[in-house]
Amino acid sequence: MGDKPIKTIIGKIIKKKVKKIPYTGNYLYRGKSIKMYKQMKKEVGDDVILTSGVRSIMKQFLLFLNKAKKSHGNLSMASRSLAPPGYFFHGVEDFDVGKKGYGIHNFTERLTQTDVYKKLNNLGYLNFRYDRDNDIGVRFEPWHIEVV
Ligand SMILES: [Zn+2]
Repeated sequence: MGDKPIKTIIGKIIKKKVKKIPYTGNYLYRGKSIKMYKQMKKEVGDDVILTSGVRSIMKQFLLFLNKAKKSHGNLSMASRSLAPPGYFFHGVEDFDVGKKGYGIHNFTERLTQTDVYKKLNNLGYLNFRYDRDNDIGVRFEPWHIEVV
């Protein structure tokens, strides 16, 4: 269910189109994504950090297989917390952010209790791709930034 932004399994990331973001180990697409992240850093402060950026379709495939294994082969269950390859937006422009030093909690609802989250929300950055009780049945992901 939902949009399929990446149409082929052999889709490659063109290196010239992405840039490594210092101290994060992650990449963002040049253009809108980097611009948005930089603006966010400027407005929210250094406490906001990129936690996951560009992913290739094969990386997503591997992550999905791992998730499916953890869900004992229940692909429907797996797809509620990780988009199947092709249906993920980290392959286009979206990215995840969190609070610096918050570790694994950056991928839990605890993120919503942080100053970083409150600032992001007040500044209008939180245009959720996966809102609470979304129609496609994906869990609420307050860390996922939809690039518009
Ligand atoms: Zn995400």
